[in-house]
Amino acid sequence: MTVTAGILGATGAVGQRLIQLLDPHPEFEITTLTASDQSAGHPYRDVAKWRVDAPIPDDIATMTVRETTPDAIDDDVDLLFSSLPSSVGERVEPKLCNAGYVVSSNSSNDRTAPDVPLTIPEVNAEHLDVLEVQRDERGWDGALVKNPNCSTITMVPTLAALDQFNIQSVTVSTLQAVSGAGYSGVSSMEIIDNAIPHIGGEEQKMEREARKLLGTFDGAEIDWHEMDVAASCNRIPTIDGHLENVWVDTDDEIAPETAAAAMTEYPSLSLASSPEQLIEVCDDPDRPQPRLDRLRGNGMAVSAGGFRATAGGIQYNCLSHNTIRGAAGASVLNGELLLNQGWL
Ligand code: NAP
Repeated sequence: MTVTAGILGATGAVGQRLIQLLDPHPEFEITTLTASDQSAGHPYRDVAKWRVDAPIPDDIATMTVRETTPDAIDDDVDLLFSSLPSSVGERVEPKLCNAGYVVSSNSSNDRTAPDVPLTIPEVNAEHLDVLEVQRDERGWDGALVKNPNCSTITMVPTLAALDQFNIQSVTVSTLQAVSGAGYSGVSSMEIIDNAIPHIGGEEQKMEREARKLLGTFDGAEIDWHEMDVAASCNRIPTIDGHLENVWVDTDDEIAPETAAAAMTEYPSLSLASSPEQLIEVCDDPDRPQPRLDRLRGNGMAVSAGGFRATAGGIQYNCLSHNTIRGAAGASVLNGELLLNQGWL
């Protein structure tokens, strides 16, 4: 079965990664691209701020960008991938779901709403079934599924691997790439030769989304994990790849080699974009590094290393590609899960 797909916010940093992943996809076919009113009506190649290290695919380059409204999208589009600014997503995504479209979204609006599944397929695929509640409560024929924030996605698979030792608290400090702020997010004068110890709202997203993702779904609602999460988020002058230093305190004792083994053994899935190995453990103590490790598993793997024991548990570093595993690849994987579980 070929699923017809549209990309909302197709000209931005995440939108162009979506094109890169979906153009050759075995199950999805891109038929619609949207962006802001400034871009609508123009060929994609004239308005995209393309910075992916491969040319724009020919069939995409000449497609006319549309407005981001239900009326501008053909009725036969099965699935919309959204990479809209959250202020726009908040306004437009519910209208699209109400009009019958299924939306797999990167935007931060509604991620922690009780009836919206926030999913990393390898971690909490069962949360997708909260869509039954969503459709009942909102009266939608469509559906809204979210992937988490890019820094949260990097850390949560490693926490999922460690939760068998009963996680009590997590402290995380991030070193995040500039592409995480979008195409025009951080000016070169601010970031070159610098580090910025503030990313608006990011700490709160990590602290809340991680607890929802590791929560349990009882068929009616998601009970969030009770662990405490404290995050400190920093922007550094790398292009792609978020590196994170994580401290995890557990109830049960855990040795560094046990933590590394738990991550290596944590299973991946057999969806089209799943990496063979979800968490790749690095042997060298100075890895993972953004430039060397962000493209592991075609950008869909998380890498981890630098394990050492602490008074309350374990400390380690982890990394993933923020616009692939942390954004576009995450919503493609959610699209594959929707298809696999019969929601399309
Ligand atoms: P971006 O580079 O600024 O791109 C934004 C996109 O939205 C562009 O296509 C833009 O079109 C479109 N847009 C802007 N205003 C619009 C409007 N009023 N109506 C319709 N379309 C509009 O941002 P991004 O980094 O791709 O991020 C997109 C979303 O993904 C955000 O919600 C962000 O928080 C989330 N996210 C990003 C990352 C990351 O690593 N970058 C990771 C996870 C989640 P024009 O080109 O026409 O302006």
